[in-house]
Amino acid sequence: MKLGTKLIHAGVAPDPSTGAIMTPIYQTSTYVQSAPGQHKGYEYARTQNPTRDALQQALAAIENGNYGICFGSGLAATDAIMKLLNPGDEIIVSSDLYGGTYRIFTKVFARYGLKFHFIDMQDAGNINKYLNAQTKMIWIETPTNPLMKVIDIAACAQIAQQHNLLLSVDNTFASPYLQQPLDLGAHIVVHSATKYLGGHSDVVHGAVVVKDEALAQQLYFIQNSCGAVPGPQDCFLVLRGLKTLHVRMQRHCENGAAVANFLRRHAKVDKVYWCGFEDHPNHHVAKQQMRGFGGMMSFTLKNDSMEAAMKVLSSTHLFSLAESLGGVESLIGHPASMTHASIPREERLQNGLVDSLIRLSVGIEDVDDLLADLDNAIT
Ligand SMILES: *Cc1c(COP(=O)(O)O)cnc(C)c1O
Repeated sequence: MKLGTKLIHAGVAPDPSTGAIMTPIYQTSTYVQSAPGQHKGYEYARTQNPTRDALQQALAAIENGNYGICFGSGLAATDAIMKLLNPGDEIIVSSDLYGGTYRIFTKVFARYGLKFHFIDMQDAGNINKYLNAQTKMIWIETPTNPLMKVIDIAACAQIAQQHNLLLSVDNTFASPYLQQPLDLGAHIVVHSATKYLGGHSDVVHGAVVVKDEALAQQLYFIQNSCGAVPGPQDCFLVLRGLKTLHVRMQRHCENGAAVANFLRRHAKVDKVYWCGFEDHPNHHVAKQQMRGFGGMMSFTLKNDSMEAAMKVLSSTHLFSLAESLGGVESLIGHPASMTHASIPREERLQNGLVDSLIRLSVGIEDVDDLLADLDNAIT
């Protein structure tokens, strides 16, 4: 079955009690047993919920995995993956990553004895320099946030394979429509389903997808033991969002290309970071592992003062000034003070994330209106 069909049908069957075509929101905390221990596969809703089951199966199918495990947010999903590890273990992480991921690694899990190395992975060979007997995992985000660097997933998978490490890929920016990391050798895919999967800026949700059964059992154990589960209504919203992912992504890609090219030609714009440009340093990798280049991009102005950036950030009308990304509506953001404020400034600058950088999540509105809105704001 192809992706567009899976997005609509995977995991979803007519409801057994009514025939409802859409999986109902099973808003219940427990399930009645006919005799002690005799039940229909559902005992308590932290452990199992039919709405969540449908979504977990759908997510597994669309990432070409075998098991989906859902969480209350993308960071709760990341938290569960880290709990696979033990004190003393080391993780090699791509730099220029989501601020909240950096925060949970450095401020939470470092206290529990995990050691993180944040490195530039545009050349996957860099990973080799940080390997030792304690290394247990490689964690990558690609394209990176917000500088849109692209990391070669298959090359990382090869290193992980050689050294018996787990490779986790945060696939939030690309979505399974643009890139399927498990097919390239990753062991774990993690999503903030808050973004493209949900797609409508109306839910916070996270997901993990794996192929391996033993790994899945560990993650289900953590899901149930630690309890960061999503509610059934949130699962329903993500399940509904998935049904249009392919159609939305096509438009995100078209609009993204138009906006990136517009910015690049604009007299007042300096650098534009978008992996669809043929002269982007990692374009060849993007072309190889992605089906399109999406609607995420960042740019700087020729006037690199904070004042000029702030003026643009507060002058758009269709691009709403807000954190988050991946919804149908276009957003504009300022990584240094918003999504990436939890990363120390020196570290941000070292990675090229300057104070005046502006990030766009290009939505699926009529592109002419989006270009006019930007043109009007960048004066
Ligand atoms: C938003 C985001 C997260 C965190 O997800 P939440 O659902 O907000 O907890 C993780 N990774 C990336 C790339 C994100 O954009």
